Amino acid sequence: PERIVVVGASLAGLRAVEAARKAGFGGPVTLIGAEDHLPYDRPPLSKAYLDEGDPVTPWFRTADHLTGELGIDLRLGTPASALDTASRTVVVGRDEIPYDVAVIATGARPRTLPGADGLAGVHTLRTLDDARAVRAALDAGARTVVVGAGFIGSEVASGARKRGLPVTVVEAMPTPLVRAVGEAMGQRCAALHRANGTDLRCGVGVAGFEGDGRVERVRLSDGTAVEADLVVVGVGAQPATGWLAGSGVTLDDGVVCDATLATGGPGVYAAGDVARWHNPLFDRPMRLEHWTSAAEQGAAAVRNALDPSAARPYETVPYFWSDWYDTRIQFVGVPTADEVVVVEDGSGAAGGRQVALYREGDRLVGALTVNGQSVIMKYRGLIMRRTSWADALDFARARREA
Ligand code: FAD
Repeated sequence: PERIVVVGASLAGLRAVEAARKAGFGGPVTLIGAEDHLPYDRPPLSKAYLDEGDPVTPWFRTADHLTGELGIDLRLGTPASALDTASRTVVVGRDEIPYDVAVIATGARPRTLPGADGLAGVHTLRTLDDARAVRAALDAGARTVVVGAGFIGSEVASGARKRGLPVTVVEAMPTPLVRAVGEAMGQRCAALHRANGTDLRCGVGVAGFEGDGRVERVRLSDGTAVEADLVVVGVGAQPATGWLAGSGVTLDDGVVCDATLATGGPGVYAAGDVARWHNPLFDRPMRLEHWTSAAEQGAAAVRNALDPSAARPYETVPYFWSDWYDTRIQFVGVPTADEVVVVEDGSGAAGGRQVALYREGDRLVGALTVNGQSVIMKYRGLIMRRTSWADALDFARARREA
């Protein structure tokens, strides 16, 4: 290939352009980003970035490094508006940029709630600009309502509680995170909120927002209302594929790819939160919104694109972490299980370790730990090696006794 164009200047896009240079590609590489900012890391935005004191902006690389050392043609603050797989061009503003290889790395954008349009104080949390606004509200001592007890919302609640601010979390499901981790561990996550003074209300939705230009109150579906200066809506994200309408690339809750991250369009690959690819390890299509896979896919897509004859499938055991209060939650594998068994339950002790295993058929497919930094990757290894359920339980027993 002669020219590489990467659309989306965040984690997956950055790893893609770096991998191109690392593989010895010396031709033109263009990195297109909708945000004005250089690539930055998102996980800290709902964690350390919200802490009191001077915030540290989590930049990945300097502009000099990207444009100077790596020789990347960096176009920030300019979203791509179209991809034309027939003429092999990406449209950015008035420019049509030709490519031989294109990597789609446009990530995901947060879902919003109706009725909050134009109301100050209501935010989603995806970008650095969002995080700056949420931080400023916390600095001002906001009474906070978080909508959605998912990972990002729960981290924001935890950050607000660390500052001693009153926080209400409103969750539509009876148990938080049931779809992500199942009932048993969802209950344990709920307990973490309550133990830390967060007012968690489950099985209740948002009926509307009240306020004159600025949010003052959140009305709930059970008829109650909660006073709020800051509302953070964390109700999930959807792949940023709007700009690909009519491109000829197949979309189905994400950009559809094969196991090598190739889309149907010639030379077009996808990576990160936007990509739905076939994960051979679980023999099913997946779209993850996890840091580790986004980084790895960015690099893998470019390596495969540069040498399609030697293309290798990208397979992984999904992994993510989340920090709540003083607790680290980690998950490996998939939560769609026939059975979830709690194999270690140190929930009584502060900092105690909890481990739950997820079974599908006779195989171990997932593991969740709370304060289990020292064991989580061992379970990831077991899942990677397609360990049977019986062997996984034996392993867990040995760990518990050790
Ligand atoms: P993104 O990071 O979403 O980047 C996509 C980029 O493309 C964006 O900058 C966007 O502006 C740009 N873009 C979109 N459309 C266009 C266009 N048409 N043209 C040009 N550019 C475009 N994961 C974990 O595993 N653990 C965590 O603890 C964790 N915490 C998180 C906390 C927060 C607050 C958030 C938001 C995410 C968190 N994640 C976490 C998820 C992780 O950050 C994502 O999986 C990762 O950022 C995905 O990288 P990406 O490059 O695929 O997409």
